[in-house]
Amino acid sequence: MDLDPPDAVRAIARKLEDAGYETWAVGGAVRDRVAGAPAGDWDLATRATPEQVMQVFRRTAPIGVDHGTVGVLRGRDMYEVTTFRRDVETFGRHAVVEFADRIEEDLSRRDFTINALAWHPLTGELLDPYEGERDLKEHRLRTVGEPAERFAEDYLRVLRALRFAGQFDLEIEEATWTALRAAVSKLDGLSAERVREELLKIMGQVRRASRSLALYQEAGVLAELYPELEAVTGEPPDAEGSLWERTLRAVDAIPPARPVLRVAALLHAVGMPPARTRDLRGGWRYTGHEVLGARKAEDVMRRLKASNAEIEQVARLVRHQPELFPPDSPDPVVRRWLRHVGPDLVSDLFRLRFALWRAEDGTGGPDDLLERWGMVRRVLRDRPPLSTGDLAIGGEELMELGLEPGPRFKQILEALLERVTDDPSLNRQGALMEVVRSEWLDE
Ligand code: ATP
Ligand code: MG
Repeated sequence: MDLDPPDAVRAIARKLEDAGYETWAVGGAVRDRVAGAPAGDWDLATRATPEQVMQVFRRTAPIGVDHGTVGVLRGRDMYEVTTFRRDVETFGRHAVVEFADRIEEDLSRRDFTINALAWHPLTGELLDPYEGERDLKEHRLRTVGEPAERFAEDYLRVLRALRFAGQFDLEIEEATWTALRAAVSKLDGLSAERVREELLKIMGQVRRASRSLALYQEAGVLAELYPELEAVTGEPPDAEGSLWERTLRAVDAIPPARPVLRVAALLHAVGMPPARTRDLRGGWRYTGHEVLGARKAEDVMRRLKASNAEIEQVARLVRHQPELFPPDSPDPVVRRWLRHVGPDLVSDLFRLRFALWRAEDGTGGPDDLLERWGMVRRVLRDRPPLSTGDLAIGGEELMELGLEPGPRFKQILEALLERVTDDPSLNRQGALMEVVRSEWLDE
């Protein structure tokens, strides 16, 4: 079997084998290629100890020598070469490992059968002691060994299972599913970083992320880790159907290359359950849900220990996603809207709106949206002043005019910004100084 690895993988394997050390390609790349998908990072497992690996190669980086991992540098790429390992003792999170003599031992400590494949880069042999290839072909996910034990060794495997099930369209085998369900209550012990990375891997690697996310719900993971989203799944359906299903379709409508935007789509409705009230006709209304939603989305992102930039971006997208200027707006209205949402957010906001539109079964949306996107682009092309910093005058000019610095400066500049929002041609030093002279100097 040829899995078509990068040349460097064969070259590294050859050097190690020539030095007498058995070496295999393992992990995600082998799984992805056996599934017929493009591979991510190629990892190698070897009989050589880290010290021996460092002797064989000139350019190495000791990236995890305690765990047996050495980075071997080839051009600008780095390949992880890890000494065969076996588990000796586990306590809920990371197994304590020691080096092993045989690749089979190394494979036995891996989580799922599809991840326990090894492929020999020189002979092309596929080592598959747990029938992972058959599981991939027959769309089945199983743990290596006894499911409850394997989850208890590392509860992150619960989330990994749901990710792989979505990524490779796998059905989770019954015993694995039963143990997985029972392990969900332990997920609160995982670190925020690992939970976040898993969510971002679903967003960034699983084209139909909805499959993994629907499984999060079915398994009870939402209720355990993301109660705000569990509440969304419980919303009563409206004329357009279920809010949760619409949310999932919106996530799928955004490409994996935009993981954070996908997170914003996932969280876009978290303000709706707590905002819901009856309207006078007995239907539902959701006044102010976007404000509440932005706050809740921020809570979720903080809990995940996301970066400040990501927290802010997601909260702003949730906050502003329902508001768009009306289709026939004159330019000053478009410019005021741009000022309100922030010009840096605009393209992502439109991407999110398109995804949400596609998630509804969409009448009337795209033409309007396209037209409004066109208006935004046209308005932005003129680089209109959208903040007081863009004005042709500032504090210095106000002082030149004899005004005393103070809070009044800010008021004046904001009033000028209103003027130039209506008429950007006014944004010239002379014209603005004239406005200040006539309106603020002779009080
Ligand atoms: P991806 O790279 O797409 O996230 P992956 O399976 O390659 O998926 P990695 O975290 O790169 O994930 O791990 C590489 C390999 O190490 C896995 O294929 C699996 O064999 C093993 N592995 C990773 N994490 C665990 C774990 N928590 N428990 C057991 N084995 C694991
Ligand atoms: Mg990997």
